[in-house]
Amino acid sequence: MKKEIICTVCPRGCAITVEGGDGKVTSIEGNGCKRGLSFAETEFTSPVRLLTSTVRVAGKENELLPVRTRTPILRDKLFDVMNAIRATTVTLPVKQHDVVISDVCGTGVDVIASRDME
Ligand code: SF4
Repeated sequence: MKKEIICTVCPRGCAITVEGGDGKVTSIEGNGCKRGLSFAETEFTSPVRLLTSTVRVAGKENELLPVRTRTPILRDKLFDVMNAIRATTVTLPVKQHDVVISDVCGTGVDVIASRDME
């Protein structure tokens, strides 16, 4: 399998070609530096993303609390995590970095508040 990946580690945005199969990389071409190697390998074998979203606030129909995953999560889990976030309502007050959902969907990663809300 061959995959074209744009490296997002720095603004240069190298177009990297990765080949492999069964979760293993056999060749990487097009990276402008070593950092692109590990980025491309991770993107090919187990891509991760930092997820940002909002959750409902109890008693405040027109307000939403911005949240994010504390660290990137596997891209395969994004849909499940979005559903968990949609099903969540927080009670104020909330401080930045408070845990809104612990170990979301068994990922080992918390969803946390992105800012204070009184
Ligand atoms: S491969 Fe290196 S130079 Fe190219 S975008 Fe990634 S970090 Fe930047």
